[in-house]
Amino acid sequence: MNKKIGFIGLGIMGKPMCRNLLKAGYVLYVYDIVQASVDEITASGANACASISEVAENCNIIITMLPNSPQVKEVVMGKGGIIENASKGTLVVDMSSIAPLASKECEAALKEAGMRMIDAPVSGGEPKAIEGTLSIMCGGEQSDFDEAKPLFEVMGGSSVLTGAIGSGNMTKLANQIIVAVNIAAMGEALTLAVKAGVDPELVFNAIRGGLAGSTVLEAKVPMVLDRNFKPGFKIDLHIKDLKNVVETANELKSPIFLTTQVLQMMQVLSGEGEGGNDHGGIARFYEKLAGIEIC
Ligand code: NAD
Repeated sequence: MNKKIGFIGLGIMGKPMCRNLLKAGYVLYVYDIVQASVDEITASGANACASISEVAENCNIIITMLPNSPQVKEVVMGKGGIIENASKGTLVVDMSSIAPLASKECEAALKEAGMRMIDAPVSGGEPKAIEGTLSIMCGGEQSDFDEAKPLFEVMGGSSVLTGAIGSGNMTKLANQIIVAVNIAAMGEALTLAVKAGVDPELVFNAIRGGLAGSTVLEAKVPMVLDRNFKPGFKIDLHIKDLKNVVETANELKSPIFLTTQVLQMMQVLSGEGEGGNDHGGIARFYEKLAGIEIC
């Protein structure tokens, strides 16, 4: 496989993903609008690029790890972007969490220019990005997935092709709905237990092995009991994902009652300055209304 890889977007996630690719022997050409981030990864052995065109000149596989749909559209379709500068046949592997419709839009424009794209958002956060054990949810053509698979094996613990372009981000949105609603249910339930005078830790210990038990509870109940809301995954980032759920569901006329309610809880918390807290802090919404603290 071609060992020269472009990487655009060197944030919390992009940096450790780059480091793992460098360790695995890939030659990276990296770009970010923040020069300090480029310098940091260059110090780890990557080649610094001053523009997207410089990345595209050197590589025909380009990974993007950007905040949201507008940034991915800008990098792919905007002035000075990938379409203007990359050669025909280039494969864009977008690992950002964006709206599935935006993935489809970018892929259609790339295809018209003779280029290819798969969407490949991740779950697992910074710790798993560092470990190289991300879960990678992909959408696109089988042959393009197969071409990117060796890269996924370096950055991730699993990678699954879930369908056509946009399916990876659709899967990620499904993940984000289930996690958000689970955390809210945890907050609602533990607040009620505390109001009733029952010890929340004992409630957790009693139910964790039954049907109500979940990975979400295992991760988030101990944080709430320790009053530890250090992120992890920030409420503001989860708001971004749930807004993408709303956009997608509106387009498809699909019902999303629970998502919209939890999104409102998160928006209230963000408005009160808690958007930087871990999303386990959704429980704070119930605590504030009930006038108690779970622990
Ligand atoms: P981040 O904000 O730390 O990094 C994004 C990077 O993109 C920044 O370095 C920024 O300077 C760069 N950037 C923005 N616009 C650019 C442009 N036009 N050209 C070049 N670079 C540009 O975000 P992150 O936490 O690394 O997340 C990246 C993506 O991964 C997001 O979609 C996020 O939702 C998703 N994600 C994050 C986590 C997490 O725990 N942080 C977990 C799973 C998925």
